[in-house]
Amino acid sequence: MTSWCCDWFNLSVEYAGDKGITVAASYKAGVRAFYLIARFFDPEIVEEFSRVDERTGRTKWPALIDNKGYPVPLTITMAKMVRFCPGCGANLERLISKKRPEFDELVEKHRQYFSPG
Ligand SMILES: [Zn+2]
Repeated sequence: MTSWCCDWFNLSVEYAGDKGITVAASYKAGVRAFYLIARFFDPEIVEEFSRVDERTGRTKWPALIDNKGYPVPLTITMAKMVRFCPGCGANLERLISKKRPEFDELVEKHRQYFSPG
């Protein structure tokens, strides 16, 4: 396991696919960056609830409706690019450039959990 800037960050990167607030590495359109990820459900729950039932054509996610009868989107994951470590304040762009091979390895590991839109 690569040591990044602090224990908080190391653990957040290690648990990237889990429920809670974690950190994922991404490389897209020439930009290497870390993302703070908030997941509200365990991955197994997301998989089970997102499966479309062949009979009904629906998933298990509840259909939320506002007072006017309009559907309300259900947010299950949120992501935000971070330039500084939320745990210790380290400059993450500098850290990425110092440890580019380790970062790129992490991107491959995290690809199954996260891909910025
Ligand atoms: Zn840190």
